[in-house]
Amino acid sequence: MMNDYLLALDFGGTKLSAAVLPVSELQKETPTWLAHDRAYLRKGKDAQFEIKKMIKLGRKLLDGKRPLSVGVSFGGPVNYEKGLVLLSDHVPGWENTPLQAILTEEFAAPVRVDNDANVAALGEWRFGAGRGYDSLFYVTVSTGVGGGWVLNGRCWRGHEGMAGEIGHVVVEPNGPFCFCGKQGCVERLASGPYMAQDFLERGGEFISGPVTGEVIAGLASAGDALAWGILQRGGKALGLALGETANLLNPQAFILGGGVTKSGWLWWESVEKGAKLRAREQVHFEIIPAAFTDDAPLWGAVALVEDLKDEG
Ligand SMILES: [Zn+2]
Repeated sequence: MMNDYLLALDFGGTKLSAAVLPVSELQKETPTWLAHDRAYLRKGKDAQFEIKKMIKLGRKLLDGKRPLSVGVSFGGPVNYEKGLVLLSDHVPGWENTPLQAILTEEFAAPVRVDNDANVAALGEWRFGAGRGYDSLFYVTVSTGVGGGWVLNGRCWRGHEGMAGEIGHVVVEPNGPFCFCGKQGCVERLASGPYMAQDFLERGGEFISGPVTGEVIAGLASAGDALAWGILQRGGKALGLALGETANLLNPQAFILGGGVTKSGWLWWESVEKGAKLRAREQVHFEIIPAAFTDDAPLWGAVALVEDLKDEG
């Protein structure tokens, strides 16, 4: 139908993104947005501000059209069944917000809301590096480490929506303390901010400017032994957890996205090595880079609601 459009919304930690996709694009090999825009968020704003700003952004992109359905990715825990945002680690006022109901009323269309890791997993599976796979685990490695499952071609959320929490799987029981209270979690060893912290604590203070995961990766590829050791340890930590995950659920592929995955082949090699150390010899899988850098949640939001048009 000529006038059928899907609206995709992504509430990220630092920005809001929105896009409109004509339904006819879903049949194509490489679908293209009709309109796409983002708004960066300044600190000190609350949930009400973000919701208003997102609605405005969506309305602008729709340009008077009514969407067939609205898919929403949210950067924080979500109760998918009830369409509730449980909280945000970045922005105050999100506690138990009925985002699905608010947006249904606003856009007069069916709405689905899920957390960004699940939605990004769906996006990579339907439109990106996961196309053609029946089972995959998507992991984002950036300021945090999170994961989402697609099993038998469907998102697997777990009974409370908590599936995929690979960031706080312990791989070094005597390792450094994580903010979650445990020691040696994947996130504690492999996330950008924690790698930067380790670098500074071990005497990397000669760096000018803020030390980030990218800075560590840059130093490592330039031959800095300390930076390389930290990056290698992080990659291996993630790999160990992937290997154990492979043993438990035997997915076809692990798809890795997020800033830290841009750290170069040394990092990828460490991940592979860690995974091989823990996975049984008979357990086979691929570890591949995500196709999308920024837009996986938006494409996943489309995948979340593309079949809703059948609801009438
Ligand atoms: Zn932890």
